[in-house]
Amino acid sequence: MDFQKIKIGVISALREEQAGLIEVMQDAVTVQRGMRDYVSGRLWGIESVCVLSRIGKVAVSATTATLIERFGVTHIIFTGVAGAAATGVCIGDIVVASQLVQHDMDASPLFPRFEVPLTGLSHFFSDKHLSTLLSQAASQFIDQEFLKAVSETNRHKFFIDKPVVHEGLIASGDQFISTAFELSQINNRLIDVLAVEMEGAAVAQVCFEFGVPFAIVRTISDNANEDSPVDFVQFLEKIAACYAYGIVRQLFLLLQKESR
Ligand code: SAH
Repeated sequence: MDFQKIKIGVISALREEQAGLIEVMQDAVTVQRGMRDYVSGRLWGIESVCVLSRIGKVAVSATTATLIERFGVTHIIFTGVAGAAATGVCIGDIVVASQLVQHDMDASPLFPRFEVPLTGLSHFFSDKHLSTLLSQAASQFIDQEFLKAVSETNRHKFFIDKPVVHEGLIASGDQFISTAFELSQINNRLIDVLAVEMEGAAVAQVCFEFGVPFAIVRTISDNANEDSPVDFVQFLEKIAACYAYGIVRQLFLLLQKESR
């Protein structure tokens, strides 16, 4: 990746998922577009644009298209939180998407369930290289910074011991999954879903359509069940920000290293 030629769009849905990044940005300039603040500058020496998309597939699609068309980003990273959708994926773990699907897309019988009409696809692949770097960044964050970044009290409170980095399928839809029944419906229809959230697959579709490489990382904030509303809010306040900043920083340091 030629470090001089890249411009990375960094999207999060919520303020806590992007905390600290804008503060460390050099020569930051903010432009408002379609009710979003796009902050351009350099993050650890790399041209970047940070933006909060707001929640849901439409919100993030508009934001992603604007980043590409108006701000000329060459790559997109999404950082945020998600609900766990598989046994073995726990609160505090990190999921890097290898593929994404919209669990609420259903134009059957005209098109097979989950297929995005006229693309011929239901599952969209993230950029392999960028996702590998993102997994590596997440592992480095866990190994080198996690114990310092997240207090012992908060680690105990959320029963986070040693977080695991997973790679696999993320399912997105315009629905906060907060009952075991809703989650089981998704798992009954789609295999190997690791996490559920509300934006990733929309970023994936827009990036696919514009030919822009992207990668998505999610920290697990809740178990996508009846406890979700409480876990989610507390996790966001106490932990999400530390993860997001730490992982993005490690990713940018890896990108820098790669270009040398
Ligand atoms: N109460 C929040 C609403 C957040 S919606 C507020 O007022 O701001 C949940 C956000 O976190 C979405 O951006 C989604 O991508 C992610 N998320 C975390 N856990 C989720 C779950 N169980 N189901 C769906 N999305 C989830």
